[in-house]
Amino acid sequence: MQTIKERYQAVQQRIADAADRVGSDASKIHMVAVTKHASVDEVRQLVDLGHADFGENRLQHFTQLAAQIEEYADRRKELGEPALVNPIRWHFIGHLQRNKCRRVLPLTRLIHTLDSLRLAEEIQEIAEKRKQVIEVLLQINISKERQKTGIAPAAIGYLLEQLETMSCVKPRGMMCMAPIAENPEDSRAVFTRCSELFEEMKLDKNSGGAFNILSMGMSNDFEVAIECGANIVRVGTALFGENAVPQETPTEA
Ligand SMILES: *Cc1c(COP(=O)(O)O)cnc(C)c1O
Repeated sequence: MQTIKERYQAVQQRIADAADRVGSDASKIHMVAVTKHASVDEVRQLVDLGHADFGENRLQHFTQLAAQIEEYADRRKELGEPALVNPIRWHFIGHLQRNKCRRVLPLTRLIHTLDSLRLAEEIQEIAEKRKQVIEVLLQINISKERQKTGIAPAAIGYLLEQLETMSCVKPRGMMCMAPIAENPEDSRAVFTRCSELFEEMKLDKNSGGAFNILSMGMSNDFEVAIECGANIVRVGTALFGENAVPQETPTEA
C-alpha cells in the first residue's frame, strides 16, 4: 500500500508532466486536496508535507476539519515545533445554499461554486457586514444534460456585469466539472469549451484585473484539464483513496 506521501508525490509528478507536455509552468498550477474521503490524520500528514490548499464540498465536514486542523497548528506552535510552512487555504467546492453562506464565508479563501445572482447577492450582504472581500469562481455548466447547477455560458457576461456592482464579491475566474466518465479523454471537449469561455471573459471589462483562475479536473481527468489550461485542479481519490471515512460525531455542544 502506498503512503500518503507517495501518492502526493505521484500526483505532483503527474501535474508536472502534464504541464510539461503543453509548455506551461507547473509552479503556477495549484492542486486543491479534496478532503471528502480523508481522515483528519491524512490531512495532517499533507499539512506536514507543506501542502496548503484544501477543499471540501460538505459544510459539516468542512467546519469540523478546519477546526481540527487549526487546533493541530496551534498545538504544534505550543510544542515549539516549526510553524507551518504555508498558512492553510480552504476552498469551498460544493453546491452552496444561501442559508449556509454565513458559516462558510469566514472559513473560506476561495469559493469555487458561485452559480447564481441570488447567491452572489447573499454573499455580498454577509461579506459587507463582515468587512471582508470574498473571492469566487463562476461555476459554469457546459454539459447541461448531466448537471443541475452552474451558470449557462450565455449568462456569464450578465452575471459579471452584476458582480461589478458588488463591492465585496470578487470574481477570480471560472470552475467547471466534466460528466463522470471512465475515459479522461471524454472530458476534453468540456474543458476546452470552458477554457475558451474563460479566455473570452478574461478580456471582458467587467471581469476585473484579477480574473485569472481556471479550476477544472479531478482525480480521473486532471491531466487533460491541465492540457486544456487549468491552473487549479481538485484532487481527492488519487490522494486519499475511495473509502469514505466514518463521520465523527461533532463534539461541539
Ligand atoms: C469530490 C470532488 C472532487 C474530487 O474528486 P476525485 O475524483 O475524488 O478526485 C473535485 N471537485 C469536486 C467539486 C468534488 O465534489
